Amino acid sequence: MGSFDLLQLKGVSRRDFMKLIAATTAALGLPELMIPRAAGAVEQALKKPPVIWLEGMDCTGCTESALATLNPSPAELILDMLSIRYHETIMAGSGLTADEAYQSALKENFILVVEGACPAKEDRFCMVGGKPFRKTLIETAQKAQVIIAVGSCASEGAGIPGACATGAVGVAEILRNAGINKTVINLPCCPVKPTTLIGTLVYYLTYQKAPALDSQNRPVAFYGSLLHDNCPRRGHFENGEFLTDWNDPLQKEYCLILKGCKGPKTYTDCAQVWWNDNANFCINAGSPCAGCSEKDFYNGFSPLYSKQEMFKLPGIGHINADTVGIVIGGAAAVGLGVHLVATAASGRLSNKDHKEDM
Ligand code: SF4
Repeated sequence: MGSFDLLQLKGVSRRDFMKLIAATTAALGLPELMIPRAAGAVEQALKKPPVIWLEGMDCTGCTESALATLNPSPAELILDMLSIRYHETIMAGSGLTADEAYQSALKENFILVVEGACPAKEDRFCMVGGKPFRKTLIETAQKAQVIIAVGSCASEGAGIPGACATGAVGVAEILRNAGINKTVINLPCCPVKPTTLIGTLVYYLTYQKAPALDSQNRPVAFYGSLLHDNCPRRGHFENGEFLTDWNDPLQKEYCLILKGCKGPKTYTDCAQVWWNDNANFCINAGSPCAGCSEKDFYNGFSPLYSKQEMFKLPGIGHINADTVGIVIGGAAAVGLGVHLVATAASGRLSNKDHKEDM
């Protein structure tokens, strides 16, 4: 069966396919002339490069996220194309059959996707099939053509497992400790967004290399902008309108900074690309950003609904969340005006740790 026969069976027309490729290349900031090359790379992928998808200490949320947005969704399109040979949550086989599938894929030029964290010291916290997950991860990563860590847990060991007493860390740290010097592409967020995974795979298939990564090894295309700068509630922030009472309908759309929003510290495209086929994202649904794309999530940002300690406002200096409104309101009172302060403060809540290494 040819590549597009497979797509047509799934109700995906050539036109829809090219639209997906165009949207993905645009999201990655690639020039239009790359569209045929990207399409060619994905068509090649239809010949099914094998994928081993390992799960460590996780909730399977990233699998759910990647697979639940469909009909046909980009996730289905790409993941089917990639031929997932081993995935404990979705594969039909179990026991010896599953292990045979794993061993067989291990002999090929496979892509490794890792979901979930890994205990760095005590293997007993994560055993799969009677074997320490850490050992399986190391063995698999050594042979993989590319390693992609999906979700907060696998990336930098952030996430709920990393907040517990298990000593859970991310894929990169496990490999570093084992003396393996391979790049791990981190795609954090709890869970990963399908568009982020697809975009990264399309880039990799097109160029046979990782996209430009930032200091946390996240693709700059998806993690290069500060959520706060693109937030739909930003106007209320500028106006000093902060939600303090969840039950007050007048405050419904107000800035959530006093309720613990981590948007000023969080690099992600969440405000531009939403979850569940663009149905929604946290802040739009009324929840403060938990900062799940950052390595400080969860422990460093908890409790999630508490105010952040300090912000840096160029031209104003360090202030804490309690004084944000006072600073902006006070400046207006002495004649600077909210607009002037807003201008001075545009893009001002900086994350000094964010460095792009293009
Ligand atoms: Fe949006 Fe949060 Fe920034 Fe307020 S603090 S504008 S809710 S990102």
